[in-house]
Amino acid sequence: MTLRIYSTDAYRRSHVARVVGVDADDRRVLLDATVFYPGGGGQPHDLGVLRIGDDLLEVVRVTADADGVWHWLEGAPPKVGTEVEAVIDWERRYRLMRTHTAMHALCGVIWARYGSPVTGGNMEPGRGRLDFELPDWDPEDRPELERALNEELARRRPVEISFLPRAEADRDPSLIRTKVSLLPPEVTTVRVVDIVGLDRQADAGTHVAATDEVGSVRILKVESKGRGFRRFRLGLDEGGS
Ligand SMILES: [Zn+2]
Repeated sequence: MTLRIYSTDAYRRSHVARVVGVDADDRRVLLDATVFYPGGGGQPHDLGVLRIGDDLLEVVRVTADADGVWHWLEGAPPKVGTEVEAVIDWERRYRLMRTHTAMHALCGVIWARYGSPVTGGNMEPGRGRLDFELPDWDPEDRPELERALNEELARRRPVEISFLPRAEADRDPSLIRTKVSLLPPEVTTVRVVDIVGLDRQADAGTHVAATDEVGSVRILKVESKGRGFRRFRLGLDEGGS
């Protein structure tokens, strides 16, 4: 298994690790520890490099399975036992952290106003989409909702990561709306991302440490997806700071 450094320290950009498994056919390696996020929960996997001495091997894809976190390489993989410096594309990752945290903040604001749970989502650096079952949506609400969202972000709410035993998470009323009960039964520890006072979700992704790091955001579009479902498109306001 791979120690998932990103899970407890999203700000680590690089780490010296050892190759503990090689799949030469697919040109991919397992590391004993990694800063690379393998994707999931709507957040794409990281990109970056493995540095071995003066050589750089580009990491083009990252996946996870029961063996650990696989780093898919552009070139021929190094041997088991090789020491590598794993370095993520930090600029891209940090934008994903800001985007991901903004999306959770929107979930919190929508829940507070409408009591509607999120039903799905996806993101790329700087842009996200979230689906809600929101039959009472009025398009006139959009400016006010965007204002409320930016106000919450500016409050510098801390974003805390914790790990709960499954049974406790299943009973946690603040997690029920994010359908923690639908996690596969083999999940015995649930990672919780808590934007303190605003939104709490079972989530594996990487987030900023406090909401003001997100900067300001825009609700770019709200689309109707039929039967009361609405799709929100959110963007970081890149010109903002
Ligand atoms: Zn999330």
